[in-house]
Order: sequence, then C-alpha cells, then structure tokens
Amino acid sequence: MPQSLIPFPSTTHPIVPISRRWIAFSVIHKAGGPSWAVVDSSTYELHSEASAYLHYLLGSARSANTIRAYAQRLAAFFTWLGPARLDWTDGVPVVSRFIRELAVTALNAPEGNAEYREPRYRSGKTMNQYAAAITQFYMWAARSDLVSEKTAAGFYETRIAYGYSGDRLLPGQVLRSRAVRVKEIEEAPKLLNETGAESLLEAVSNHRDRFLVALMVETGVRIGEALGLRTEDLHLFHDSRAVGCVSVGPHIHVRRRQNPNAALSKSSNPRTVPVTEAVCTLYYLYLEDRIDRLAQDSNPMVFVNLYSRSHVGEALKYSNAVKMFYRSSGRAGLRVNPHMTRHTAATRWKRAGVPTRDVQALLGHRSPSSQLVYEHSSDQDLREAIERVRFRSSEPT
Ligand SMILES: [Zn+2]
Repeated sequence: MPQSLIPFPSTTHPIVPISRRWIAFSVIHKAGGPSWAVVDSSTYELHSEASAYLHYLLGSARSANTIRAYAQRLAAFFTWLGPARLDWTDGVPVVSRFIRELAVTALNAPEGNAEYREPRYRSGKTMNQYAAAITQFYMWAARSDLVSEKTAAGFYETRIAYGYSGDRLLPGQVLRSRAVRVKEIEEAPKLLNETGAESLLEAVSNHRDRFLVALMVETGVRIGEALGLRTEDLHLFHDSRAVGCVSVGPHIHVRRRQNPNAALSKSSNPRTVPVTEAVCTLYYLYLEDRIDRLAQDSNPMVFVNLYSRSHVGEALKYSNAVKMFYRSSGRAGLRVNPHMTRHTAATRWKRAGVPTRDVQALLGHRSPSSQLVYEHSSDQDLREAIERVRFRSSEPT
C-alpha cells in the first residue's frame, strides 16, 4: 500500500476563507511517483478533496498528463467558487453555472503582449473537458460520502436505446450521458484533395472496405446510407428491367429504412445514384470474399462483417465502419472522417462543372426552389457527373 503525502479529507477541515486562488501543482508521492495536487497559490496548502481525488486517479493508473489536466480544471473550478460564494456540494446547479461563466470568460492574453488582440474564448470541446473532469470528481465524491448519491445522480441523464429485433422495436441498452455539457460547434467540413482520396483508396485493406470507400467517395452517399444498403438496392446491370427497374445503367437506390446495424438513411426522399463500372467490379470482388467466407448467408445487407473473428455475417456496424475510416486514413497519413467523402464528392462535381440541380439530385438534397429543375436531371446527366470525376484507384488492379 503506497504511503500518501496527501491525507484523506478529514470531516473537520477548517473554514476556508473565500477568494483563494487554487493552482495545479506537481507533487511527488513517496511510493506513487510524480503526480499532481491542487494547492493554494500563496500558502501551498492542499485542497483536500481535489487532491484526494487526484491521488485516487494516480492509484487507478491514469497518466500524469490526464491527472495534470484534471488538476488544472478542478483548480479553476474551486477558485471560481470562492468569489461566487457557492458550495460545491450543491452539485449540478453550481457546476452548470461555472461552465456557463467559463464560456463567456475570455482567455488571458500572453503576458508581455501590450498589443490589443481580439479576445479568445474556450472552445465547446474544452468546456466539455472541464465538465467531464468535474463530473468524474463528483462521482468519486459520492463514493467517498462527500456528497449524496442524489447529488451525484443529477450529473447523468439516463435514457434507453431502442433497437429492432426482426420487425419489433425493443428496449435495449441503458445509456447515460452527462447532464452538464456544452454544445460543440462543428467546424466547416474538411475536404479530401485528389491525392488524399487516391491515398485513402490505396490504404484500405480489404475488398469490402475498398468498395465502401470507393462508393462513398464517388457517389457522395452518407455512411449511414451506404451501410443501410440491401443487396436488392444494388442494380449493377446495364439494364435493370428484369428486376423491375427502368433506370438505365448500373446504379444504387438509396431508401429510408430502419436497419439492423442502426444505419438510417437520412433522406426521406429515395434517390437513384449511378455508379461506375469500376465500383461495380469492386462490389463483385467483395462478393467473392463474402461467398468464400460465409458458409451460410441470408443477410440482406450489403455490408457485413467478414474479416473479423466474431459476428461474421452480421451487418457491419456504424462504429466499426467509422473506425475503419480512421485506421485506413491513418495509414495514408491522413485523418479522414466518413462525412468528408460526401463533401469531397459534391465539391468535385461542382469544380468539374456539374450543374447545381444535378449535384442536388445526386446528394438527395431537397430544396423547395429546386424541385422543378430537379425533375430535369436526366439519368444521363447524373451518369456523366459520376463518370467525369471517377477515381483511377477505384479501378481494380
Ligand atoms: Zn434500379
């Protein structure tokens, strides 16, 4: 049992004067090594609760960087409490107010810089890191009987995720989310340039993922739409009349459905998107893998687990597809999230001179003002758009 320099908070701590400034401070534990505590900036007196919590984090094998970040966030919180004359044991109302004030408090300009600068503010992400650290502190405080279970429970909202089993909607996992959180503003979507898209396609490790990435990057379908595709939605023929479809040339149908992998097509209006011969070939290569690897296959979904050890043959999950994007793009020295492919497709069409109405039709965007022109996008227009910007690396080698 490592001996600690930090005493567990006693129940009889002295009345703390208001307006103390708390800082994160590097400490060395006798047995536990370097860590962080929260101390008074002038007297170096330990903040007992915050420091005891940080010591607990050290015991639960958190990295020094994590502990330092928690120390800084807790120090800021306890410093703010003083002048506000609030009691931290009140829980959520106090923490919510702290986070709100943090949002409107400008960051200090670098010292020695007299020049006027536009004030800078913390990002939503940073504020959520504060909220997360403080929420975790309260969870520990409840376990240590410093606040009531009821106070701690206020930090989490509970909801039940529903999922489909066959055609029946059933309650599933209980999800908990932090009650104190800040809406993060999304940055403008980033684009993949031509080389980026080529490198991503080359970095993908198997036929299924190569088909998925090529399909997304060439057609601009959302990842949820791609994962929600069923084999019956793929009309990869020159003539689909035999399957009751009059659209000319190979194409896919994007329809709104509730799918087993929780992929939900976002468009409420179904659309038809042409695909290139190269993408069709990638599909057939994937299909060969699927036939090889699955002894029995009755899954109607296009994208299924094939290369993993477990859940083989089941619908590919959204979270696993997203991980695949990060893994593959990481190998190519990029960081690509799935939505970038859609934005990239749209931008490439625009740059290649594809009319706005065709871009809208391809993306499935419904805009009231464009409903009339939308009708005039012919199959041929859409096909030309897709062919004009297709990738060479999506062609099988
Ligand atoms: Zn069709």
